[in-house]
Amino acid sequence: MTTALPSAQDVLQRVFGYEQFRGQQAQAIATLVEGNDALVLMPTGGGKSLCYQIPSLLRNGVGLVVSPLIALMQDQVVAMKQLGIRASYLNSTLSYQEQQNVIDQALGGELDLLYLAPERLLQENTLNLLSQISIALIAIDEAHCVSSWGHDFRQDYLLLNQLGERFPGVPRVALTATADARTQADIVQRLALNNPHQFIESFDRPTICYSVQPKTDAKKQLLQFLGPRKNQAGIVYCLSRRSVESIASWLQGQGFHALAYHAGMDAEVRSEHQAEFLRGEAVVMVATIAFGMGIDKPDVRFVAHLDLPKSLEAYYQETGRAGRDGAAADAFMVFGLQDVVRLSQMVAASAAAEDIKRVEQNKLEALLGWCELTSCRRQPLLEYFDETMPKPCGNCDNCLLPPKTWDATEAAQKALSCVYRTGQRFGAGHVIDVLRGAVRDKVKQFNHQDLSTFGIGADLNERQWRSLFRALVANGLLFSDPNAYGALKLTNSSRAMLKGERSLKVREEVEPPKSRGSGSSSGSSKTLQEPLTDAQEIRFESLRELRREMAEEQGVPPYVIFHDSTLRQIAKAQPTSGEELLSISGIGQSKMEKYGDAVLDLMTELD
Ligand code: ADP
Ligand code: ZN
Repeated sequence: MTTALPSAQDVLQRVFGYEQFRGQQAQAIATLVEGNDALVLMPTGGGKSLCYQIPSLLRNGVGLVVSPLIALMQDQVVAMKQLGIRASYLNSTLSYQEQQNVIDQALGGELDLLYLAPERLLQENTLNLLSQISIALIAIDEAHCVSSWGHDFRQDYLLLNQLGERFPGVPRVALTATADARTQADIVQRLALNNPHQFIESFDRPTICYSVQPKTDAKKQLLQFLGPRKNQAGIVYCLSRRSVESIASWLQGQGFHALAYHAGMDAEVRSEHQAEFLRGEAVVMVATIAFGMGIDKPDVRFVAHLDLPKSLEAYYQETGRAGRDGAAADAFMVFGLQDVVRLSQMVAASAAAEDIKRVEQNKLEALLGWCELTSCRRQPLLEYFDETMPKPCGNCDNCLLPPKTWDATEAAQKALSCVYRTGQRFGAGHVIDVLRGAVRDKVKQFNHQDLSTFGIGADLNERQWRSLFRALVANGLLFSDPNAYGALKLTNSSRAMLKGERSLKVREEVEPPKSRGSGSSSGSSKTLQEPLTDAQEIRFESLRELRREMAEEQGVPPYVIFHDSTLRQIAKAQPTSGEELLSISGIGQSKMEKYGDAVLDLMTELD
């Protein structure tokens, strides 16, 4: 019997319930279906998985997925099963009998997808098993791990180069979200891909709205940010274990479901917290950067930084954990000069070679400069990754609410000469006291009340001075010396400033407006996600409730049943028939069969 083969478009609609391919998905899929190799570089949340899932369904045999993240395999398999895809994994977490069952399924041609860690795939008995079955394709996820230029190099990935010879004629696809040009070339060469078609998409994450504020009162600022996000999941990053603990318990006191995560915690508690975060809907994870690698929760709605990360790259990677499901998300950060001093000291105290330390220090200063920006934040962020964005993005704080600036040239001259007069030995706090004419103990101790610069800056308040000093450091007009406890020192550029040969504009310090970055009513979400009416909101909440019950019943995370965006659409469209329900993005046949009736009943009930 011959029936017409389904097309990729059919599968997209029928199985995944999506209308259209994104970006270059369709081309990548066609390449693999035709039996060619491919390299796929898409940002997190870009939809890489579909690029191998659909060809695995369309081609004969099982699709092998190589991934280093064993902890995620189970979640991925659970999500596949919800879609009616026959997926399994083989790794050390399975019992002997369970592994045997998976092997039997594979031999019996009962699998569409099989997930494996590289070390498992390369075992001789696994390779023997695989040589007895037909393989649709081999997908190598997190492919940057094969490159020593990349940031997560793994020795066992190098051995994946033998797959081409072992499985001749089987198309291979390498996928990653992070690889510069050098790493891309490395991936192709080290995995010995055969003339791969390359699908390289922008790094941009247009749905993430970036906003950055000077740190005045971190807790108060965080609370203002979190206020309208009480029923969302997010991550709050802090630099130290101590602040993780204290912020987490303080947030609990404020009525948030907050959990702590850092490397110093008991391993069991830590993994419980991680599991709770992955399964939960309105959970705030307060963590050091130890948390995040391989976190594949699609509905993380915000990432907030209470301390500066190490570099712009690190920041981009950490904030990239928000909004993987493609819906609007927020990246929020507060920063102060004190952070820079602390991080610089950490760099200086590290055992690294001097030239590496210098690079680290430069990266830190680049990040500070980015924080101090008064223009679009996304443009320079992408430039940092060698991409140009011709127009301001319209989805960052500076685009949404352009900051006012003031001409700080004269004040900068005063600041620099005061740094000079006080001997280039002090941090901003003391220099500001001298500028403002504050007679404090330390001022008296050094007789700084006698300096010509004492009190010449009484016209500005402490906050304005702080902001000016940050701008001076960010612009390379002052240098915070980590080897001298962060003492501020003049630089080669300071002279031009002092001689009046250059000017400086500084962001005007105002209380951040209340409406800024506030959940569904924020500017970011307005452009990307229409707010729900009251009636829709009620339906949305009831749908979430229903989803929660169904998720608990099956012991799976709620998002594998439906994404929030799917529930929002249902809440808006109020479908009354199966056909209407199927037209909603994220509902394919399998989910329709599993949950269609329950959803339609609920809609009738609420009508
Ligand atoms: P990545 O692996 O690139 O980080 P995923 O493959 O996990 O991204 O996809 C991110 C989310 O986007 C998933 O929830 C996925 O189902 C969804 N998605 C992928 N492709 C499409 C599409 N064409 N239309 C709608 N949603 C999509
Ligand atoms: Zn912008």
